Amino acid sequence: MRARLVAGNWKMYGSLPDNAALLGSVRQSAAGLHTAKAAVCVPFPYLFQARQILDGSAVAWGAQNISAQAKGAFTGEVSAAMVREFGCTYVIVGHSERRSLYAEDDVTIAAKFAAALCAGLTPILCLGETLAQREAGETEQVVAAQLAAVTSRHGVQALASAVIAYEPVWAIGTGRTATPDQAQAVHAVLRGRISAQDATLAARVSILYGGSVKAANAGELFAMPDIDGGLIGGASLVADEFMAICRAADRDAGGR
Ligand code: PEP
Repeated sequence: MRARLVAGNWKMYGSLPDNAALLGSVRQSAAGLHTAKAAVCVPFPYLFQARQILDGSAVAWGAQNISAQAKGAFTGEVSAAMVREFGCTYVIVGHSERRSLYAEDDVTIAAKFAAALCAGLTPILCLGETLAQREAGETEQVVAAQLAAVTSRHGVQALASAVIAYEPVWAIGTGRTATPDQAQAVHAVLRGRISAQDATLAARVSILYGGSVKAANAGELFAMPDIDGGLIGGASLVADEFMAICRAADRDAGGR
């Protein structure tokens, strides 16, 4: 069975007191999960707090970005090794907000992906089409090219230590979720592309869906055969909502 994961992306939200309450609740409820794993990707300044509160629990933590460089005169940057020192398991790479707002291109994203692996982090590689690309019928081509940007540089085997997240840009933070069939179709394309190079790996790699997932729609998304959990933005800031999403992944895993 593939690993089921629900990872929260806090984006640039949080404060020490709010985080303490949120992380404490998540820690407590995650103890009841059976098969699904929960994780939170927090802003850099909160990694220490995340480790303090989550260490020894069922919840992993991670960062939302890293530098593509290992070290050096890169003012304001944070390396993968630094993030790893805080006990992170995961790092989000290639989020659409990084692609669009910070002009991260495929080359940079592939370099960050490699830097994550090098430091022992599991990259959560985000892929997804814009609304214009979907309406132009380019979804498959766009996500396949985003995936190939990594596999052509680092080999398909690099995905063995990674998680993929399909996040249609038009669904992120908009309240407009892909239907389970729309998401499943893209997940199947991605798995098919990997399978063409390594069928065993394709059967094992976890592909998360992200884009306005909430407790009310998580169950139907996670019931699809190629959706192995979720990358959750807004809803990960509300403990009860986030944990209900985690339980939806957990419950569904039992039936597979
Ligand atoms: C995200 O930021 O990766 C995301 C999926 O956000 P939201 O759940 O708020 O759409």
